[in-house]
Amino acid sequence: MQFIDLAAQYQHLKTKIDARIQGVLDHGKYIMGPEVQELEEALAKYVGVKHAITCANGTDALTLSMMVLDIKEGDAVFCPTFTFFATAEVIAYEGATPVFVDSNEATFNICPLDLEKRIQATIAEGRLIPKAIIAVDLFGLPANYPEIQKIADKYKLKLVEDAAQGFGGSINNKKAGSFGDIATTSFFPAKPLGCYGDGGAIFTNNDEYAELIKSYRVHGKGRDKYDNIRIGMNSRLDTIQAAILLEKLEVFPFEMVSRQNQADKYSKQLHGIVDTPIIPDGYISSWAQYTILSRDRDSFMNDYEKEKIPTMIYYKKCMHQQSVFSSLNCINNDYPVAESLAKMVISLPMHPYMNDGSIYE
Ligand SMILES: *Cc1c(COP(=O)(O)O)cnc(C)c1O
Repeated sequence: MQFIDLAAQYQHLKTKIDARIQGVLDHGKYIMGPEVQELEEALAKYVGVKHAITCANGTDALTLSMMVLDIKEGDAVFCPTFTFFATAEVIAYEGATPVFVDSNEATFNICPLDLEKRIQATIAEGRLIPKAIIAVDLFGLPANYPEIQKIADKYKLKLVEDAAQGFGGSINNKKAGSFGDIATTSFFPAKPLGCYGDGGAIFTNNDEYAELIKSYRVHGKGRDKYDNIRIGMNSRLDTIQAAILLEKLEVFPFEMVSRQNQADKYSKQLHGIVDTPIIPDGYISSWAQYTILSRDRDSFMNDYEKEKIPTMIYYKKCMHQQSVFSSLNCINNDYPVAESLAKMVISLPMHPYMNDGSIYE
């Protein structure tokens, strides 16, 4: 058994994906070819936002959103401490200071109560200007946007949704990628919607942000491609990746059903043995990971290994425990929930083709 079986998915979609790739080879427009535009329209429609703008990867998608929000030195950006490194990295990359927030113990997502506490502490300290929040849809479950948006509004902060893992999830039928001022996702192969290389996208309903993002992703171009009006970056999605994603997006809703079935199966089997994921009412997870908690992680993982079932730990180390952030002088034990999650989490194999390679059973 594989943790994520991308080859099984490819075998299932081979004819269509091969034809799409061949189409790009035939027209030869490898950068910003017609498939990129087609994909952006399909993504915007799927997520239910006005603009979807593709880029080179999920980290760039976050960086581009930081650039658009003018995040810079002296600014505080709040993010969960229990997340993938890129969420915090992009804040520091802009010269701003990440302020880490503890997790909710049921959902593992950013805790709104602790978020407000950290915002108030930052204001009281007066050293940094609170500017934005990056909330993460960890393991596929959307963060508590109804509460987080209220806090963002109260303190006049911008809200970014890091939906790198959340693409496909929803809250009361509102899709991940549509929350906050800007949302981002990743098409890294192992994410719920992955391509065959690196890729990412940014979602927004704000026309001004959309224009800025399109400029920043191509060297800060102005109306004339050779007149650059700001310092940007080179972060385009390859046409071949867009072509692959178009075919994968087509079957994605079926894959989501298959992921949900697999999660239900796990939860039934593991009920009472370990803490299984809690999905609040009205929420749908994209099941980027199926993650359980075990107080005896080593022996649980050993037992699975004996059965030749791979398991992974996402994540062993919180952001406030990362060497590179030691200069922030975060206090250990200041994040009790996240620290205990880091000691207990185990992720089990999860992909849509786990049973005989079929998603339609
Ligand atoms: C994967 C991931 C990213 C970064 O995406 P890349 O495409 O690998 O750059 C950012 N945030 C989270 C939460 C992720 O899981």
